[in-house]
Amino acid sequence: MRALRLHGVGGEVVLRLDDDAPVPVPGAGEVLLAVRACGINRVDLLTRDRQTPASIPLPHVSGTEVAGDIVAVGPGVTDWAPGEAVVVDPILHCGRCSFCERGATNMCLKGRVYGVQTHGGYAEYAVAPAKQLIRLPSNLTCLEAASMAVTGPTAWHMLRRRADLQPGEDVLIVAAGSGIGVIGMQIAALTGARVIATAGSEDKLRKAQELGAHAVVNHREEDWPDQVRKLTGGRGVNVVFEHVGAATWRGSLQALARTGRLVTCGGHAGFTVDMNLWQLFVKEHTILGSFAATRQDFLDVMRMAREGRLRPAIQGVFPLERVGDAQAMLEDRQVFGKLMIDPTLAPARGAA
Ligand code: ZN
Repeated sequence: MRALRLHGVGGEVVLRLDDDAPVPVPGAGEVLLAVRACGINRVDLLTRDRQTPASIPLPHVSGTEVAGDIVAVGPGVTDWAPGEAVVVDPILHCGRCSFCERGATNMCLKGRVYGVQTHGGYAEYAVAPAKQLIRLPSNLTCLEAASMAVTGPTAWHMLRRRADLQPGEDVLIVAAGSGIGVIGMQIAALTGARVIATAGSEDKLRKAQELGAHAVVNHREEDWPDQVRKLTGGRGVNVVFEHVGAATWRGSLQALARTGRLVTCGGHAGFTVDMNLWQLFVKEHTILGSFAATRQDFLDVMRMAREGRLRPAIQGVFPLERVGDAQAMLEDRQVFGKLMIDPTLAPARGAA
């Protein structure tokens, strides 16, 4: 099969489209999928750049956000059959440890991320554990469902489970044009919060307003935290939705009201930040880490998507040949929403 595989990580990147990669064989409890859609996620870049903690066997097939059609089932799989269209919940969990027992499947002691610690969807075929599947929501295409498979549940977990966002609160969505930002804005608005969004271009700010942001601020302007404070009558926002890291961290804290909560799920612009502890305790700020999403978060988001309450935002769909270009666009922040792969596309038909 055709698969885009990493043959080296860190230093010199070797991402190569192989025509002769073996079609994976589903083991016990697994299915084989014909991949119809795979999202390009920043974690793929972290894997490529050897910034994920676990080492991975090479060659590696990235791709955590996957939807496709079942073409074969492994031993012991009785509740799925070839021909069914499915989405993969990428947060793999054991179902038996103390965290899984209480539903915190994202904290599983044996947890792994599909497409990071396993092979994923940058290929024509992929295997996935049967217990991680859900049926493709009927009103969504594979591309649409896959585009929300990580960003949707992650944003839901951040805002609803961790920050406990309430109706009427002010929330700042940092880098609202990112894949997670476009869903975070929608979830915040659905919760009944007042959404202030930041982005780095006028075009992205306009699109953020179309997706439900009540006010927008350009985070390329030096005084953006002050602008956010002004929009809240000088008080600051109740909740900051962070996923950028070092580049925005200080501004995000400046924009946060007394007793406010900052929730973060990432730091691709730098994982190490400095903090003024005086500001932290005097203002009684709460800093919340948030990792991926639980199984229940995944089910909740896919249900909302099926009900038409969350809208996918896809900027471009690429064939496997052009994934390198798409990854470069993501790194250059030229993206509003998600960049997707359709492995069935012929090279010329990919469009940004
Ligand atoms: Zn577990």
